[in-house]
Amino acid sequence: MKAAIITIGDELLIGQTIDTNSAWMGAELSKSGFDVYRITSVHDRREDIIYALNEAAGKTDVVLITGGLGPTSDDITKQTLCEFFNTHLVMNYEVLSMIEVMMSHRNFPMNDKNRRQAEVPESCRVLKNAAGTAPGMWFEKNSTIYISMPGVPHEMKYLMKELVLPELNQRFTSQIIIHRNIMTYGTFESKLADILADFESGLPENIKLAYLPASGVIKLRLTGTGSEHDHLLNLINEQVRKLYATIPEFIYGEDEESLEMVIGKLLMAKNKTVVTAESCTGGEISHLITSVPGSSVYYKGSVIAYSNSVKTQLLGVQDYILTRYGSVSENTAKEMAVGARNLFNTDFAISTSGIAGPDGGTEAKPVGTVWIAVASERGTVCEKRVFGNDRITNITRFSLAALNLLRKQIINY
Ligand code: AMP
Ligand code: MG
Repeated sequence: MKAAIITIGDELLIGQTIDTNSAWMGAELSKSGFDVYRITSVHDRREDIIYALNEAAGKTDVVLITGGLGPTSDDITKQTLCEFFNTHLVMNYEVLSMIEVMMSHRNFPMNDKNRRQAEVPESCRVLKNAAGTAPGMWFEKNSTIYISMPGVPHEMKYLMKELVLPELNQRFTSQIIIHRNIMTYGTFESKLADILADFESGLPENIKLAYLPASGVIKLRLTGTGSEHDHLLNLINEQVRKLYATIPEFIYGEDEESLEMVIGKLLMAKNKTVVTAESCTGGEISHLITSVPGSSVYYKGSVIAYSNSVKTQLLGVQDYILTRYGSVSENTAKEMAVGARNLFNTDFAISTSGIAGPDGGTEAKPVGTVWIAVASERGTVCEKRVFGNDRITNITRFSLAALNLLRKQIINY
């Protein structure tokens, strides 16, 4: 069961609109057991559209197409489909009356362009679009199904959910695809690939492993394909167990879990609280923690101790520490964490002090250096990490490193 996606629109190729349709349709097709074999984006240009259609023809069971169905002259998908399927436009009166009702609801007068939206290629089956004015179109030729839908994301999604996916699911007895995501932190992709070389070569034929890194978090996706659900699930579970046994120190969660979500669960389970004292991360850790619903139970607040005066006046960092060791130092990070924990009376406190860049680095403390501390009843642990030169990336990486240090402390608590 193969599928291809073609998105049409000049705006997609000049970076004005991000092609979110392909991502969404790809995910849905994959859930339905289709192997999405290619995604192509083309201009609103006759020859480019024909080229993409020809390219997919005969190679896939289903081709999903979006875009170019608007009422204006730059949208030429419908005429081009007529040419490809050797047919011509005819007025569909049912669609016309739907458009008339919609326009009068919105208090817009009908014009010629709206009327032309009710014209459809004679050989297609019309997919009525209750979410907009351009109908979807279903074609079949040489055992390939082609479905053309509007580019407007919510209209495309309406047609997909209401009409397209139900029919595709019915017609294609689906091959089963199961994805499992294992979330890791604490190493880099090539190192992880080295560690997992044996695991990977021992994977059964029908299970594939993918590495999906983002800001220090590496998602390991296991994808299994098969025809029998329970058997496939057992097979994948067995591989997941092997992964846990191979890299226990790096796995922090599963599926789309973030470090802040996992920390939330751990703190709730242990009935503990945390505060943050953030210098170089400027509130990013606080933002991440509070993005998790229910965080008010375990998160008390933050001191954004960006300047030395806030570090001394609010957190009680001693002047001599700052002058002797500097604000980016083990001693300062530790004092910040201890000070914040005392100030708010919590079980844990996290602090960060570093150089996000692009300026401000020295040979001893280059841009990308951060000291992270976590204070608790058991004392204070501190870690130095060195990342890259990009300020925003550094802020994210510092924050994730701090969250991971906290996670390890809570687990060991
Ligand atoms: P169209 O059907 O070509 O008139 O597209 C209408 C609008 O939908 C465009 O202006 C875009 O903003 C949006 N759009 C079109 N194609 C896509 C796509 N592949 N992903 C996200 N948005 C899109
Ligand atoms: Mg367009």
